[in-house]
Amino acid sequence: MTIQDWFEKRKEAQLERRKIEARVDEDTSPSLWTKCVHCGTQILISDLEENDNVCPVCDYHFRVNAQTRIKQLFDENTFEELFVGIKPTDPLEFTDTELYVNRLSAAQEKTSLNDAVITGVGEIEGHKLATAIMDFDFMGGSMGSAVGEKVTKLIEHAIEEKLPVMVVTSSGGARMQESALSLMQMAKTSCAVSKLDDAGLLYICLLTEPTFGGVTASFGTLGDIIIAEQGARIGFAGRRVIEQTIHQSLPSDFQTAEYLLKNGQVDIVSKRKDLRKNLANILSLHKL
Ligand SMILES: [Zn+2]
Repeated sequence: MTIQDWFEKRKEAQLERRKIEARVDEDTSPSLWTKCVHCGTQILISDLEENDNVCPVCDYHFRVNAQTRIKQLFDENTFEELFVGIKPTDPLEFTDTELYVNRLSAAQEKTSLNDAVITGVGEIEGHKLATAIMDFDFMGGSMGSAVGEKVTKLIEHAIEEKLPVMVVTSSGGARMQESALSLMQMAKTSCAVSKLDDAGLLYICLLTEPTFGGVTASFGTLGDIIIAEQGARIGFAGRRVIEQTIHQSLPSDFQTAEYLLKNGQVDIVSKRKDLRKNLANILSLHKL
């Protein structure tokens, strides 16, 4: 980008911000507005939703839940949910500051989901694919037995039906309340991906903000093609933990989608508005 381009872009952004600020004065009803966590601009929630939950001023990509993601990515009314009946259990009868079963019920009530992933089959610009979409609002998108089981069942279903698979990740990692049972999901899902590979079927990973821990270390980064959404943070351990371990400070863009692209860990960094088009291109190129 030249200085002139940069200047024009900034001017446009300022103008847009002034327009938005003017509208704030007209209507100050708090429930209609939200604040961009990146640039601080007040945005009408309806404007934000219309813009795919991307800030119209600074292009910050807000985190979206699994249902919204389905709406944004799939052709209308084509997504059919599968394995709805798989629900989390509490085999260890775990409790920390609260009972695990209580945490589960609270998350279920908050998200209307049984667990942190929705699995199903849908179409993107007419291309059919099996998909698992994680939801960070459900206990930080953590992977317990039910999440691992649903992802595995979905991949097995795709092998039977000869469908490509896409996982949309958003996760803090394995679910500590299920201890080793959560960690086992890493091996289980990885084995399923390996079988998908043996069957010669396409596997796409779409990494969204944030993707960390056991999900990054298993089915999240085994894709034939790995796409990261613009601005997403992706890693295994968190930045602070790494800095304390190696006693070095890390680059400011460390663990961002853009940093990972520069270093060969992901293949594409995509803006949200381009995702459908990019996915449709990839699916059409790999059509059986
Ligand atoms: Zn912003």
